Amino acid sequence: MNYNYEGGHGKIVNSMRKNASHETSLMNQETYDGINWSKVEAENNLAKAGMLVDAGLPYIKGDTLIPVWNLKGYEFLFSNYIPYTVNPKFWMQGNLNLNTGLFKVTDNIYQVRGFDFANMTFIKGNTGWIVIDCLSSKETAEAAIKFVNDYFGIIPVSAVVITHSHEDHYGGILGVLEHSTNKNISVYVPKNFINAALEENVNAGVAMARRGIYMYGVELPPDEKGKIDNGIGKGTSVGTVTFSQDVIEINEQYVKKVVDGVELEFLLALDTEAPAEMFIYIPSEHSLCIAEDCNATVHNLYTLRGAKVRDAVAWANSIQNAINQWGKTLTSVFGVH
Ligand SMILES: [Zn+2]
Repeated sequence: MNYNYEGGHGKIVNSMRKNASHETSLMNQETYDGINWSKVEAENNLAKAGMLVDAGLPYIKGDTLIPVWNLKGYEFLFSNYIPYTVNPKFWMQGNLNLNTGLFKVTDNIYQVRGFDFANMTFIKGNTGWIVIDCLSSKETAEAAIKFVNDYFGIIPVSAVVITHSHEDHYGGILGVLEHSTNKNISVYVPKNFINAALEENVNAGVAMARRGIYMYGVELPPDEKGKIDNGIGKGTSVGTVTFSQDVIEINEQYVKKVVDGVELEFLLALDTEAPAEMFIYIPSEHSLCIAEDCNATVHNLYTLRGAKVRDAVAWANSIQNAINQWGKTLTSVFGVH
C-alpha cells in the first residue's frame, strides 16, 4: 500500500471542495509512517473470517429511482494508493467495511454484513431463524433475508430480537415480519425500548436528523475528498423506516428465555450506547452478542448529531457485567455493526 503525498497540491475536483492543506497532508503522512502492518493484516483477516458468500458491493433498489443502498461508489477504496486527502487509517477502516456478504459466526449463528449500516444476525432455531436486529429500512431488511434464503433455502423467521433503540437496528422490522410465512413472531426488545426509540427519533428527531446530515456527510459523494466511511459502516440506507409496538420488553436485569427451542440469556445494558440496550448470550454456541457496546472502532460517547450523551461509567459497568456473567464460558463475541 502506498501513500500519495503531494503536499496539498493535488488537482481541484471542484471549487467547493478544497485540497488537504499542507499540514493535513503531513499529518496523514505521519499516520502512514506509524502504521503497524502486522496489525493491519490481522484486522483484514478477521474482517474476512467466516465469509461464506461474498456480496461484492451491494446495490439495493426500492420503489424510487434512487437506490436505497449502494456501495458501488466505494470501489475506489480497494486501491492500494491512498490519496493525501484521507487519513490512511480511516481509508483502511473504510476498506474493512466493504467486507460484505454472508458470514458464519458459529455452526448455528450467521450474519449478513454490508446490506445497510448495521448487520443482521441469524440464529438457527427449531422451526426457523431467530433474527437479531432488522437494519434501517424495510427494503434492505428484505434484501438481507433474501440473501440468506438464496444460500440456505427458504426458512421462515421464528422470532426477532432487537438489541437497542436506534433506528439502524429496528427500522427494517416490518421487512422482516412481513417477509416471513410465520405470522406469530415474537419480537424481544430491551426495557424502555418504545419510549427511548420515540424520544430520540421522534421528539428530537428533526434536529438530530439535520445535524446528522453534517455529522455523517450524507450529501457528500463517495470519493477521495468526500465520503469514506462512518467508522461502523457507510451510513444508513434511505428506504422505508418502519416500527412495531407489538414487542415484548425484557424488564429483568438478567433473564433466561427459551426462544424457538434455543436458550437465550438477556442482560440489560441500559443507558450505555443507547438508553435501551441489551446483550444476548447463546449458551449452546458459547457466543455473545455484545450489541453496539464493543464496536471495532472508536467509542461513541458524545455524538455530534445531538443524540443523548452516553454515560461512560454505565457503559463500562455493562461491559464488566458481561465479562463477569460469561467471560469464562464464551468462545466468540459478535457485534451488530
Ligand atoms: Zn447502530
